[in-house]
Amino acid sequence: MAVGTAARGAGQRARTTYRRRRRRRRRGWIPVLLTALVLAAGFWLWRANTGGYRVALDAGHGGDDPGAMGLIAETELTETTARYLEELLRADENYTVILCRDYGEGASSGERGRRAARRGAQLLLSIHGNSSQDGTARGFECYPQLAASETHADSLRFAQLIADGMAGAGAPLRGDGGIRYASYDEAGVKQIGEEADAAGTTFGVLEQAGCPAVLAEQCFVTNAEDVAAFAGEEGCRRAAEVYYRAICRYFGTQPMI
Ligand SMILES: [Zn+2]
Repeated sequence: MAVGTAARGAGQRARTTYRRRRRRRRRGWIPVLLTALVLAAGFWLWRANTGGYRVALDAGHGGDDPGAMGLIAETELTETTARYLEELLRADENYTVILCRDYGEGASSGERGRRAARRGAQLLLSIHGNSSQDGTARGFECYPQLAASETHADSLRFAQLIADGMAGAGAPLRGDGGIRYASYDEAGVKQIGEEADAAGTTFGVLEQAGCPAVLAEQCFVTNAEDVAAFAGEEGCRRAAEVYYRAICRYFGTQPMI
C-alpha cells in the first residue's frame, strides 16, 4: 500500500515536470517569433526608406473611364505622359516611383490617392487633360490641395514650380498664374476658383494622398493647338520633362536632363 502510494507520487511528479518542460518549450518559441516579426518590420521600413524620395504618379481616369473625349481621349494623354515621367524618375537614383494605378487599369480617384498614401508617397502628381464645349479654350492649369489641408503650403510650392515650367515650355497659363482650386460642397457640386480657402473638399486623389499633391490639367484635349503642343508623343514627353524638373526642384536634387 505504502509502496503503491510512493510510486503514484513519483509518477505524478514526473508528469508535472514533463508538462512544465513542454510549457517552457512552447514558451520558448515566443521570443523567436517576436524577433522574426521585428526583423520583418525592420526590413519593410528599410525597403520603404531606401531608393530616395517616393513620388506617386497618377495617370488620371483609366479602365472603363476614358476621361474627356476630344481630338484624343484624355487617358491617351494621361498614360503617355505618366510613362515618360516614370521612365525619367526610374532612371534617377534620387527617386522611387509609386504608380497609383497600373496602365490600362481603372480605379476611383480616392482609391488612387489611398494607394499612394499606403505606400508612403512623399509627393503626388495627378495628370489630366482639360476639355471645353466649343474647343477654343486652351492652356495649362493645376490644382493644389486646399488651405485647410496640412500639406497645402508644399502642395502650392510644387504647383508653382510646375506652372513656371509649363509657361517656359510655351503653355498659356489659366487661373492665377496657372493655379486654381477645386472644391465640392456637401451636395457634391464642384466649384472652381482662385481662393485657396474655399470650403468643402477637393479632388479625391488629393484628399487621400496623405502628402503634398497636385492635379495638373496639362492642356485641352478639345483644342487642336493644345493637342499639337502637349498631347501627342512629343507633347507628352515635353510635359513629362517639365514635371520631372519641377519634382527635382521641389526636392532640391540635380535633374539628369
Ligand atoms: Zn481628368
